[in-house]
Amino acid sequence: MASNEKTSRDIFDCRLCGQCCTGFGGTYVTGTDIKNISDFIKADPDSFVDTYCDMSGTRPVLTLNDHETCIFFDPEKQCTIHPVKPYMCKAWPFIKTIIKNPENWDIMANSCPGMKKQIPYKDLQRIVALEKEKLDNSLK
Ligand code: SF4
Ligand code: SF4
Repeated sequence: MASNEKTSRDIFDCRLCGQCCTGFGGTYVTGTDIKNISDFIKADPDSFVDTYCDMSGTRPVLTLNDHETCIFFDPEKQCTIHPVKPYMCKAWPFIKTIIKNPENWDIMANSCPGMKKQIPYKDLQRIVALEKEKLDNSLK
């Protein structure tokens, strides 16, 4: 029997517009991200934060280039570190903080045209948890 349950595809379809790579939105990088990106671009992981990050409180975030986009964003190629992009970028928009409040999803959708609005909160909670689990399993 066909299910009417919404899936991630029903609520998000990335338009590759690059808006999420623009401006100081705070693309946090974890220790694993730093190691993976350093390996990929052949950089020294010990100086990665100094060279490619700014600090947001105590946490490093990817810095911006002169065009106010992520240092790894290219207007033609989009993300130049796509295979090793930070966890946050891989997970977007299925991240737990975004469903902390029912209204967060629609607010974020104002700056991410791939996110569909007016999704029932229960569906958001279920899909975000499912997608996070899938991503985490794929990275093990
Ligand atoms: S802002 Fe949204 S739709 Fe645009 S590239 Fe980023 S994730 Fe995709
Ligand atoms: S790492 Fe890639 S996907 Fe993430 S903000 Fe930078 S350019 Fe965008």
